[in-house]
Amino acid sequence: MSFPPIRPELAGIEPYGAPQLPADVAPVQLNVNENPYGPSDECVADIAASAAEAARTLNRYPDREFVALRTALASYLSRDVPGEITPDRVWAANGSNEVMLQLLQAFGGPGRTALSFAPTYSMYPEYARDTMTTWVAGRREDDFSLDLDRARAMVEEVRPDVVLLPSPNNPTGTALPPEAVTVLCEAVGGSAGSGGGIVVVDEAYGEFRRSGVPSALELLPAHRNLVVTRTMSKAFAAAGLRLGYLAADPAICDAIRVVRLPYHLSAVTQATALAALRHAPELLGNVDQLRAQRDKTVAWLRDQGLEVAESDANFCLFGTFGDRHAVWQGLLDRGVLIRETGPDGWLRVSIGTPTEMAAFEDALVAVMKEL
Ligand code: PMP
Repeated sequence: MSFPPIRPELAGIEPYGAPQLPADVAPVQLNVNENPYGPSDECVADIAASAAEAARTLNRYPDREFVALRTALASYLSRDVPGEITPDRVWAANGSNEVMLQLLQAFGGPGRTALSFAPTYSMYPEYARDTMTTWVAGRREDDFSLDLDRARAMVEEVRPDVVLLPSPNNPTGTALPPEAVTVLCEAVGGSAGSGGGIVVVDEAYGEFRRSGVPSALELLPAHRNLVVTRTMSKAFAAAGLRLGYLAADPAICDAIRVVRLPYHLSAVTQATALAALRHAPELLGNVDQLRAQRDKTVAWLRDQGLEVAESDANFCLFGTFGDRHAVWQGLLDRGVLIRETGPDGWLRVSIGTPTEMAAFEDALVAVMKEL
């Protein structure tokens, strides 16, 4: 009998996570799609004052329903879809990872199925495993888009309870057109045994999409089974805060309340998130610059003769290399940490500051000379 007596399907599995290396080993960190711009002193001072205020109440449990935060998030989302997002249509947790886990706790589970289309975000199969939900992965096309007829056929065959659709997708950066969301909401709505399944459009990178690419938030009024998730970790430059959220029908938010742990959002998290939302214009202030830098990086990589997936996110997937690990290692040897992920031969680089991207480009040129 081995120890510890973990569930057999978890035995020997390495915990998920990109390598976290200290800044003296990897001064240029472009591996986890963070926003490279930290908050201003004024914003830090406001967050600190709000956290101090919350600290005075730490003997008490926080507001379990986090009404003030849901109201602030609803008003932030209402910029995209005026008048549609009320606080009862918003839910939040410690990162959109936790939001997604709660969705599978409530809508997945034993005897139920979650479906996505690979390559897709590598945490999804883990949420499925942890909630004992059957995991099925269909395929994207060679350019990482979705063929809607094939996707519909897959839904009809698998009859999933939850469809997970990252848009823009990680690791490819591909955004989905609204037709894809509509087709899948309709197909899933009629597929599962009783009453249909839900479609989760994961817009963790939504704010970085190119102009003319609409958010799935606009489709919420048309589809009761649509959930749109967002995070403050990327465009909002607050990965350390751990705050993800979703917009959906109030009945979906109520269902999640059944599975969430009581008081899952600490008083400090709520106060910090509210303060960060008050500084939204500053924190989101570098999104346009990051989008422009992304487009420049894509063009530069193509000029080097590389293949680059179309990106609507703050990263791009490029390749293809016979030995991608050698390229990843060569970059790291030059102080640049990127991510070895995605289909064989491809690598993913997050968009950093102009100085960081120049360091990445110099290092890649040097590494490619040695190949
Ligand atoms: N969805 C996607 C597609 C992601 O890439 C990430 C983070 N890498 C997340 C969700 C989770 O982000 P967080 O928990 O920080 O909100």
